[in-house]
Amino acid sequence: MAILEEPIKEPFDIRNFIDGEWVDSQGEYEEVVNPATGRAIARVPISTSSEVCEAVEAAKDAYPDWRRTPPLARARCLFRLKALMEENFEELSRVQTMEHGKTIDESRGETRRGIEMVEVATGIPSLMMGYNLEDIASGIDEFLVRQPLGVFGIIGPFNFPFMVPLWFAPFAVATGNCVVVKPSSEDPISQIRIAELVEEAGFPPGVWNIVNGGRTVVSGMLDHPDIKGICFVGSTPVGKDVIYRRCGETGKRVIAMCGAKNYSVVMPDADMDRTVAACMTSFFGNAGQRCLANANLVIVGEGLSEKAYEDLYQNVANRFVAAATNLKIGYGLDESVQMGPLRDVHKKRRVGQYIEKGVEEGARLRLDGRQFSMQGNLPDTCFLGPTVFQDVTPDMVIARDEIFGPVANIMRARTFDQAIGMIHSNPYGNAASIFTGSGKWAREFQYAVECGNIGINVGIAAPMAFFPFSGMKDSFFGTLHGQGREAIRFFTESKVVIQRWW
Ligand code: NAD
Repeated sequence: MAILEEPIKEPFDIRNFIDGEWVDSQGEYEEVVNPATGRAIARVPISTSSEVCEAVEAAKDAYPDWRRTPPLARARCLFRLKALMEENFEELSRVQTMEHGKTIDESRGETRRGIEMVEVATGIPSLMMGYNLEDIASGIDEFLVRQPLGVFGIIGPFNFPFMVPLWFAPFAVATGNCVVVKPSSEDPISQIRIAELVEEAGFPPGVWNIVNGGRTVVSGMLDHPDIKGICFVGSTPVGKDVIYRRCGETGKRVIAMCGAKNYSVVMPDADMDRTVAACMTSFFGNAGQRCLANANLVIVGEGLSEKAYEDLYQNVANRFVAAATNLKIGYGLDESVQMGPLRDVHKKRRVGQYIEKGVEEGARLRLDGRQFSMQGNLPDTCFLGPTVFQDVTPDMVIARDEIFGPVANIMRARTFDQAIGMIHSNPYGNAASIFTGSGKWAREFQYAVECGNIGINVGIAAPMAFFPFSGMKDSFFGTLHGQGREAIRFFTESKVVIQRWW
């Protein structure tokens, strides 16, 4: 099938968006490379801390007027932004495929999820309401109002470059705050396109700013006294030891959504055709670079004889390997492709090292993604095929570490309780899925499992914009989560008024 037209024709220099102006950075520049074609598509600045200060200053100056703008008027800016995103839907999606490598359908899904955040935030006049009670004592009334706090910093990961900053920014500005967004420097282009639409939608200058870069920008945000809170999505070492720790020291609010190692549990009564189909998108979608991706597939033999369990285990494993073998890999702008490349060559190397480790640890390598070689004129640099290990045990490194690539581990558990124990021995708690035909197992699973997002016959338990995106244990640091009502609470302070009129 033909490759869809690329929206980025020539490499260009990315600028920062500060106080409603597009400004060149004083920092060094790095290339943004399309991982499928190996071609440079942009140069991203690694901005300096003084540029962070300029953006925070602009946001702080914009805040008093924006805060006083009626919620209905703020919502109208978001309605215009949503309309512009719809108009540019296909282009926004293709940009994500070019900068990240994911398939065009994955990008379209990401664009849709991002737009849904804006849609939900347009409900701010209702969502931000407080509550009241007359006569808390005779003739005395009490009420609660929610007020914005000021400036928030938003730090994005590479794996969902368009959607993740939108888990926060629309809710932050809807509640009357101003934001400084730092996209991942690996794939910052779709956030630039969003800022262009923000400008077109008529947000006042300074309400929504973008500063590109890396650690210097993050440190600048963490240390800036005028930033009231940080929303971070990325790996656990950075989220826990850099972001959460520093926010504690400086007294900032924080949402730190971090790494994952998610389990899928298959009960003997599951619909195996549907289970295996759901697993393909869960394990290999986004080339496994998804915090909700399942990575460990546990086949449970509850109630079965040894022989029946062995038959079930081999049967599910064989089907899984067969389906993974058939996935079509290539450039995501080819509509027929089902899995794109990894984001860059370092990530491919890292995943390859884990495959080597799995072999050393004695797991059975049923499908080796390293054997994949790209046909045609695309370079092999970032492509890796799906990898499937069988007979993996929970103590193996490949079962414990977040590999963040297209590697699946098939594991055994004789009982349901053993499977739950395996999930709980894992330090992460982002998501877990169960595949079963039984309400009893499903109920027990959702009740017992210590993970923030649970899928029941669903492989990717991604919450909609009006629910919080949860996470537990080493997958989340903070109290309130992103999205929905929890985001409204995160971006506002509750003020209580008690009044009496003589
Ligand atoms: P990362 O931690 O390397 O980077 C995240 C952000 O932090 C980037 O903007 C990066 O520039 C910045 N950063 C990196 N190192 C830093 C440092 N030492 N000091 C300050 N800032 C630093 O993560 P990534 O590789 O971009 O994203 C993948 C990770 O994100 C995975 O672990 C994945 O599970 C996680 N993730 C989690 C969720 C969730 O909802 N829990 C969602 C998406 C991604």
